[in-house]
Amino acid sequence: ARKFFVGGNWKCNGTSEEVKKIVSILNDGKVASADVVDVVVSPPFVFLPLVKSSLRPEFHVAAQNCWVKKGGAYTGEISAEMLVNLDIPWVILGHSERRQLLSESNEASCLCAKRLYFVGDKVAYALSKGLKVIACVGETLEQRESGATMDVVAAQTKAIAERISDWTNVVVAYEPVWAIGTGKVATPAQAQEVHSELRKWLQTNVSADVAASTRIIYGGSVSGANCKELAAQPDVDGFLVGGASLKPEFVDIINAAT
Ligand code: 13P
Repeated sequence: ARKFFVGGNWKCNGTSEEVKKIVSILNDGKVASADVVDVVVSPPFVFLPLVKSSLRPEFHVAAQNCWVKKGGAYTGEISAEMLVNLDIPWVILGHSERRQLLSESNEASCLCAKRLYFVGDKVAYALSKGLKVIACVGETLEQRESGATMDVVAAQTKAIAERISDWTNVVVAYEPVWAIGTGKVATPAQAQEVHSELRKWLQTNVSADVAASTRIIYGGSVSGANCKELAAQPDVDGFLVGGASLKPEFVDIINAAT
C-alpha cells in the first residue's frame, strides 16, 4: 500500500514571525501517526533551518528548488549538496510556477541552451545526492481545453523517467496549472482520471512495480473542505498544498485519509 503523503508548499511567503506561528499550529495539531501519513513542509530556503529545528520531529522539510548540478559559480542558486549538508531530506522540483515564470522545461529552455534547466536533470542530480524529490507535472487550461492533458503530463513524466532508474525516493505531484491558486480545484473525477492514466503510463513505460508503489499526489486549490473527497479516490495518494498549507486547515488536510 502507498503511504498517504501531504506536502505544504509555502512558496515565496512569510516572515520569520509568521513562520513561527504556522510551525506552532502544526506542532500543536492533532494529526494521524507518521505510520499512516508522511508530512513534508516546504518553506522558502532562508527559513529552512528555523523550520527544521522547531518543527515536530515526525514532520519533514523540503526545499522548493535546487540547482541542476554541482554547486559553483551560479549566483543565487542553492545546490543539492547544500541541502544534504543541512540535512534537508526533500526537494520540490519542476513546480509549474518555475516552469512558467522561470522557463524550466522538458526541453532546452530559452534561458539556457545547454539543457541545464531540464527538470529531469534536476531530479536525477538531486536523487544522486540522496535527496527525495517531489516532481511536479500538470497541464495549463489551454492544454486541457484542447484535449492535450495526458500528452503534456506524459511528456513531463517521460523527461524524468528517461533520466532516472530508481523511483523509490520520488513522489509525483499532479498539479493542473488552472487549479493552482485559483480556488478552482479539480473535481475528484478529474484528478482520479489523470492519476490513473499517469499510473498506467508508469506501468507501460517504467515498470509495474514502480506504477504500484509510486505516490501520485494532487495539488491545486486543495482545502480543508475538499480534501476528503479527493483523498477517497483510489489513485490520489495525497496532496501538495499551497495557500491552505499556511493556515490551520492544513491539519485537516493532513488527516484527510483517516
Ligand atoms: P494552491 O494550493 O495555493 O492552489 O497551490 C498549489 C500548489 O502550487 C502547490 O505546489
